[in-house]
Amino acid sequence: MGEIKLNIITRNEHGVSRKDISDNALKVLYRLSNAGFDAFLVGGGVRDLLLGHKPKDFDIATNATPEEIRALFKNCRLIGRRFRLAHIMFGREIIEVATFRGHHQEPAKNVSAQSDEGMLLRDNVYGTIDEDAERRDFTINAMYYNIADFSIQDFAEGKEDLDDGLIRLIGDPETRYREDPVRMLRAVRFAAKLDMDICATTADPILDLAYLLEDIPSARLFEESLKLLQSGQGLETYLLMRDYDLFKPLFPLVAEDFTDEGDSETEHMIELVLESTDKRVNEGKRINPAFMFAALLWYPLNRVARKMMDEKGIAYYDAIMEASNVVLDQQVKSIAIPRRHTATIREIWQLQLRLPRRSGKRATRLMELNKFRAGFDFLEMRGEVEQGETKELAKWWQTYQNAGRNMRQAMSNDLGQDKPSYRRRKNYRSNKSKSNS
Ligand code: ATP
Ligand code: MG
Repeated sequence: MGEIKLNIITRNEHGVSRKDISDNALKVLYRLSNAGFDAFLVGGGVRDLLLGHKPKDFDIATNATPEEIRALFKNCRLIGRRFRLAHIMFGREIIEVATFRGHHQEPAKNVSAQSDEGMLLRDNVYGTIDEDAERRDFTINAMYYNIADFSIQDFAEGKEDLDDGLIRLIGDPETRYREDPVRMLRAVRFAAKLDMDICATTADPILDLAYLLEDIPSARLFEESLKLLQSGQGLETYLLMRDYDLFKPLFPLVAEDFTDEGDSETEHMIELVLESTDKRVNEGKRINPAFMFAALLWYPLNRVARKMMDEKGIAYYDAIMEASNVVLDQQVKSIAIPRRHTATIREIWQLQLRLPRRSGKRATRLMELNKFRAGFDFLEMRGEVEQGETKELAKWWQTYQNAGRNMRQAMSNDLGQDKPSYRRRKNYRSNKSKSNS
């Protein structure tokens, strides 16, 4: 490819220190090295340490084969079909060890395979370290920290791009995106996360190739969607995804509501939920992916439900129930949201129908529900978007939760009788017309 040119950064020319590398990763590096293999820390670990960030995980690359790795570690599991990898397990920490990958133009060997679109389907050819570097996505991800002499082997001028703040694909961008379209998502993810720019040659093909993401397995896109939107820079990443038309292949129903002005209810809701997710992540709080998916899809859900009300003459409650199935069925085609999350999404949506009905003992009963807190937080965001009655309702619930027993009693009494529910109102109307006749 002509771009692979090794540059060695010696220990006294860089700031990566063993004390910033996890003990378990060091153990693995040393054991491989002591057994006579080459062993390097690679990828995000080296990149983040050079930037002075704390790496999310530590990946290791070696010339030992998966079987040789397994023979060295009792706590080792071989995983992966597409890429065969070793996972060394240390309690909750997993160190991923990959054998250097080689070029993949030997289809006869049946170890590498490509689809019609040029996508890599299997990829198990072992190679040398410089071949391995050539196969990595971005220049800043192709730096190898050598445990033998603590130098960094930089194969694609990644250090220079890191200093310049540039996300640059290794090799020909279009070919690399066709091999693996997820690299387009990774480009915007790293740009947002590291506050860098995507260099022009790497950015240019994305608009034309974004549609290739439609062929990526939905399970992989679920994982990727969490990394994109739930890692602390979700709002920034979402805006970049929109700029590059990368949001639509993942969330087609949501993208239907996008406007040039960016002021639809859907767009307002997305900004609110991503802002609050980013805040929680950066405060180290737990987040529930179901809440975000519920918010992204709420106004599209209502759009589908309204259409059903018009076309089938059904009531709002029934329409939302039916539309929930339609919307989730469609969404899981692109992003395989696991069942435990879709169950929660439905609960949050259903609570939106129940929270207005709070007279008598209903309010206390609602508060006892498992998902009440999520349902209420959701209602508050809707209040911000919709204002009016929804905002009043959210305020009522806020006051109610903070109130003592007597005050709660008074608030419930003040409401008087609830209006009949949508479902009951329909019956009520038909009864009334009967009695009128
Ligand atoms: P982070 O873990 O912070 O999200 P990372 O760069 O470590 O970032 P991983 O997904 O952990 O990302 O991958 C580790 C390394 O594997 C990358 O740095 C890159 O070198 C390589 N890699 C990962 N995904 C791809 C891909 N789709 N194509 C080519 N190389 C990849
Ligand atoms: Mg990583």
